[in-house]
Amino acid sequence: QVRVRFAPSPTGFFHIGSARTALFNWLYARHTGGTFVLRIEDTDHERNSETFLNVIYDSLRWLGMDWDEGPGVGGDYGPYRQSERNDIYRDYIEKLKSTGRLYEKDGALWFRLLGERYETYDEHRKKTVTKVKAAPTVIDDLLRGRVERIEDEDFVVVRSDGTPVFHLVNVIDDIAMKMTHVIRGEDHLSNSSKHVELFNAFGAPVPRYVHIPLILKQNGPGKMSKRDQGALVEEYQNRGYLPEALVNFLCLLGWNPGGDVEKLPIDEIIRRYDIPGLNQSNARFDERKLAHMNMAYLLELPPDKFVAHAKTYFARHNTFPGGLPDEAYLREVLLLCQPKIKGVEDLPAYTAWFFAEDYATDEKARAKILAKGDPKARLAELGAALQTADFSSDTAIEETIKQLAVDKGLGFGDYQAVARLAVSGTNVGPSLTGMFRVLGRERVLARIARFAA
Ligand code: GLU
Repeated sequence: QVRVRFAPSPTGFFHIGSARTALFNWLYARHTGGTFVLRIEDTDHERNSETFLNVIYDSLRWLGMDWDEGPGVGGDYGPYRQSERNDIYRDYIEKLKSTGRLYEKDGALWFRLLGERYETYDEHRKKTVTKVKAAPTVIDDLLRGRVERIEDEDFVVVRSDGTPVFHLVNVIDDIAMKMTHVIRGEDHLSNSSKHVELFNAFGAPVPRYVHIPLILKQNGPGKMSKRDQGALVEEYQNRGYLPEALVNFLCLLGWNPGGDVEKLPIDEIIRRYDIPGLNQSNARFDERKLAHMNMAYLLELPPDKFVAHAKTYFARHNTFPGGLPDEAYLREVLLLCQPKIKGVEDLPAYTAWFFAEDYATDEKARAKILAKGDPKARLAELGAALQTADFSSDTAIEETIKQLAVDKGLGFGDYQAVARLAVSGTNVGPSLTGMFRVLGRERVLARIARFAA
């Protein structure tokens, strides 16, 4: 029975890399029918905060990563916050002492490696240190195979103030919580050799390791950090990204679903996800790809869901301080624009003129129109034709304009650009006939008249 965990430290906002690690664990649990544990590694009291903790909970929930054991849901191996597990650590430290592997130095407790000791001068630290001639520690990694690392110095496990260090509590919890797999970033590889030594000292089985590849910055060399642009999960939530799009994007950062389709529903991702499909090479973060994924998901959202999603965004950003526009009208506007926008964050600017009469007119676009001659006559003809036009469908409106063009010996295009500018003040937007239908005859005629005045 697979037991995996996500073990964040609430010392900063929740970033893309953490979300990806959580996801790879969650997917593995769901794929195997195992258990996904959330464990909060909050032993660093100075850097922890409840705010960051809540961001972790919110982000995991938003992304749909439910945990089977952990804060809020409980479980057989709790408590699930390290700050509440001191009694457990005390017992394990006693156990380790009884094996003779701990000794005291400078008030701290050190873990003794096995092997012959010798003194040597350390150039970097500019002092003589005691090293250990030890056999390499083997990390059995399901992705990388056998990784050997040399641990050649004893290390502190309990600080002089009595607090156990990360290495110790991390291993104790993995033992106590019966973890079968440890799936975490490649940056932890250097910790894993210490951890293997500790598991062995406790006489506990070593979990199967999977060190997942790094996420590289979008531009330039190196690992993506919390400070890089687009690194925070919360930011995407704020910007109205769809969580299913972000999850789909994240799972591709280091995992290959096979076949040539990358956009997959979550059930299908769970079905296909497995360790052998993970990549060994680093993945590069690509914000444009994420935006594209989001657009693809947005496009296929059913009407009710799209409207609800847009409204959530409006509420979050107080887009309509005076209250939402008329329900039915808003819905028509939104559905007309759904296939045209990249994300719901574009909606306020993209649709502003649907909701106000005092919209600005793009002067460059106006100059372009005027350069082709005075549009007054075209607008007057169009206004007259629209007086009696059928506004019930886009095609009916299109027929009216086409007929007008034929009658005047002109093309559809002779009316299109100027009409668009007149009723919206811009030369970008949804289809002209759709705009007319949704705005309605009265508004369209008033705007055309005002522009031509
Ligand atoms: N608290 C550690 C971190 O945030 C967990 C490492 C692990 O998964 O073992 O990186």
